[in-house]
Amino acid sequence: AKRAGRNGYFFFNEGMQDEAEHFLDVHNNILKGIQENQFVLHYQPIMSLNNGRIVKCEALIRWKHPDKGLMQPDEFIPIAERTGAIRELGNWVLKQACKDHRKFMENDIDIQIAINRSVNEFYSARAYEKWKAIIRENGIDCRKLVFEITESLFMDKHVNRINVVSALRKMGIEFAVDDFGTGYSAINYLRSYPVNYLKIDKSFIQDLLHDEQDRTLVEVIVKMGTALNIGVIAEGVENDGQVDVLRSFGCEYIQGYWLAPALPIEQAIAFCQDAQDS
Ligand code: C2E
Ligand code: CA
Ligand code: CA
Ligand code: CA
Repeated sequence: AKRAGRNGYFFFNEGMQDEAEHFLDVHNNILKGIQENQFVLHYQPIMSLNNGRIVKCEALIRWKHPDKGLMQPDEFIPIAERTGAIRELGNWVLKQACKDHRKFMENDIDIQIAINRSVNEFYSARAYEKWKAIIRENGIDCRKLVFEITESLFMDKHVNRINVVSALRKMGIEFAVDDFGTGYSAINYLRSYPVNYLKIDKSFIQDLLHDEQDRTLVEVIVKMGTALNIGVIAEGVENDGQVDVLRSFGCEYIQGYWLAPALPIEQAIAFCQDAQDS
């Protein structure tokens, strides 16, 4: 943590130096890992409760680290966001998701792919041009892409970010508010950023059966989404009881271990095929 001295100077203590070195290390290893194909996207199915169909899969990144084995995103995404490596990594994710979408299509699976985008990826028109190029090179129909963003992006009045979001929306890319309910409590951003989906964070779903307050909040979020014509996706759904409650509230989409965890692409394709056939 940063500490301001008596005169307002920042002291650079040993712990901070260690942290800085660790960050630099991870940063360089991420860039190297991209070159050496150490990253992989797993896919978690999202089902519509209206018809039981798998309508989307969320791409969740994993790092096949040469020394540390399979690393989960919580171990490196927050660092990548701070060092800026997230920009390179985010470009890789978009490219890979486009390629993987084609693989789903080749297996007659017609779904949307949702990818997580960090706020710091939305920095400039240059980022937008880069994404447009990636999308064009890979020939994906933009309507098949959903960008999941946390509320902090929408709270930001930064003009570049607003422009980038509306340009992407015009191309046909859909937007979901990720971790909805955990960040800012203001919702007026929904007026200036007409998003397509709200994803209710799993912390609200966890105790849905036992916590009266969580149940009320989830019901209200679903009602609000419906009234505003915004799709609602509940994440972290693990059991039948939660499915029943969500269904009774009219929540349209669910995602979670009840349905399936994030799966390697071949398994995700097989899962979608099974769901189609049954
Ligand atoms: P998230 O976007 O909120 O993703 C949902 C997380 O919940 C995933 O963890 C998923 O595996 C996990 N999950 C899914 N179903 C259940 C369930 O039923 N119960 C429980 N307890 N957990 C469930 P994961 O894959 O470890 O990802 C963690 C976070 O890392 C994600 O949270 C997202 O914020 C970030 N992330 C993942 N991939 C990317 C990426 O490609 N780019 C960026 N910028 N962030 C990513
Ligand atoms: Ca997400
Ligand atoms: Ca979440
Ligand atoms: Ca998240």
